[in-house]
Amino acid sequence: MLLPTFEFHEPLDLEGALELKRDLGENARLLAGGTDLLVHLKKKLITTQNLISLTKIKEMSLVTQEKNAIVIGACATMAQLSSTPIIQKKFKALKAGCDNLGSHLIRNRATIGGNACNASPAGDTLCALLIYDAIALLATSETKREIPITDFFTGPGKSCIRPDEILTGFRLPIPGDNSDAHYIQLGKRKSSEINVVNVASFLEYDPATGKVAICRIALGSVAATPIRAHKAEAAMLGQAPEEACFFAAGEKARREDCRPIDDFRGTATYRQAMVGVLTKRTLAAAYDRARGACL
Ligand SMILES: Cc1cc2nc3c(=O)[nH]c(=O)nc-3n(C[C@H](O)[C@H](O)[C@H](O)COP(=O)(O)OP(=O)(O)OC[C@H]3O[C@@H](n4cnc5c(N)ncnc54)[C@H](O)[C@@H]3O)c2cc1C
Repeated sequence: MLLPTFEFHEPLDLEGALELKRDLGENARLLAGGTDLLVHLKKKLITTQNLISLTKIKEMSLVTQEKNAIVIGACATMAQLSSTPIIQKKFKALKAGCDNLGSHLIRNRATIGGNACNASPAGDTLCALLIYDAIALLATSETKREIPITDFFTGPGKSCIRPDEILTGFRLPIPGDNSDAHYIQLGKRKSSEINVVNVASFLEYDPATGKVAICRIALGSVAATPIRAHKAEAAMLGQAPEEACFFAAGEKARREDCRPIDDFRGTATYRQAMVGVLTKRTLAAAYDRARGACL
């Protein structure tokens, strides 16, 4: 399979990329790692007259720390994020998502922005972005806007990004003490496979009462977009973080939060059952990490 012909643009800064996007509009596609885009072009699932590469824009690959948050550039790769100390220490569910995605070769190219803009319901970093309450940073040559990640995905392969916009990165609040998170993906094999179900959970407990103070749970591959499991989250609040409570949240997620379909990777019934299991396991592991019982 050969790539079709197109004009290749390689701006050195964000302003240059935004001006190109403004001028070329829907006649141009943005290229980050290319691990989705080039496949889609080769398979002729999409066409374009122009490719605007973002790979030479250094500022778009940085991970910077603010007072209470980090900003991850949209072009930060999976391998880069996985080896970044603040991600390793404070965003373990995101690190797990990065480590799980594809193979070594893919992780060296694939970017977090590309994963989000590809908007697969099964995307490996997307549950983590949801549980860490990420804010998507979008820019045009004239404007900037910030969108909560819960409003970013609009359908399979679809996001709220407008034709003249570029996703510049994500802002993630740094989780507090007494909190941690965990991510588990279930696929037909270990790597380079589209997930059958993937779940991430974030839990913070109140050290005075020992009860759950904050809980966010995200489910992948069981709806048209990655989703938050709001019913399961509500069931956790104010509860003692123990086996019975994790199980009850898993049941809520399984029965009330997810809307899976049958496909050749798994039936809806199987996916639903696995949502219950993985929700319970990720909550238990997040709590163990939060209280320092495991890494
Ligand atoms: C062999 C193989 C295995 C894979 N395994 C997995 C896996 O296990 N888990 C998983 O989640 N994915 C997997 N993928 C899919 C892919 O690697 C990821 O989705 C990856 O994160 C995409 O990032 P990218 O930088 O390569 O995006 P690209 O292919 O460059 O872009 C993807 C889309 O996003 C748009 N885009 C990119 N950056 C921006 C931006 N900053 N602003 C606006 N639009 C933008 C592009 O125009 C394009 O439409 C796999 C792919 C391959 C080929």
